[in-house]
Amino acid sequence: MSSEQPPPPELPLVGGFACLDFCNTLSGWGGPGPRERAGDPAALAAWCAQAFGQTPRIDREEWSRLIRLREALHAVFDAIAIQADPPADAVALLQAEVAEAASRRRLTGSAAGGAWRDEPPGDGTAGRHRLAMDALDLLLGGEPARLKRCAGHDCAWLFYDRSKNASRRWCLMSDCGTADKVRRFRQRRRSGPEARDR
Ligand SMILES: [Zn+2]
Repeated sequence: MSSEQPPPPELPLVGGFACLDFCNTLSGWGGPGPRERAGDPAALAAWCAQAFGQTPRIDREEWSRLIRLREALHAVFDAIAIQADPPADAVALLQAEVAEAASRRRLTGSAAGGAWRDEPPGDGTAGRHRLAMDALDLLLGGEPARLKRCAGHDCAWLFYDRSKNASRRWCLMSDCGTADKVRRFRQRRRSGPEARDR
């Protein structure tokens, strides 16, 4: 196999939290045809570069840990998105990841206040730790009702709805929103000759 593979196409970052965009690197969760965009260390490193502006060195073992974290994050946030309790094992895995991430952060203080910084970029674990802390921020600080699963057919992307009246339904209006409009238009046409264009 050539090591000169073209970089994977960039995914739109629509989740509002990096941990949700990370979940969205696999689409169609539980559906008939999941699509994987972080299927190997290079693809995952490229996604981290897009999401964080840093390219961590990810080896095979780190990649496996990131994928396990992604499964846990998805289990937790997808459950909340449908007003269900997250599975305890997924919460436990997230807790372990948060504990590790917190142990690597550095607390500094100055006249301007305090800072709790991530480890230096480039460390192979940096992406995982950032995602774990991001998930903690969302879990503790986010409004559960704003955590949503895209209503698009076979999509299931997760996002945090920051719209004023919390009415967002789609990961991307130009993608799932438009596809839904087209589908409903066709259904109306099939439903009878009286069905009219809007
Ligand atoms: Zn969607």
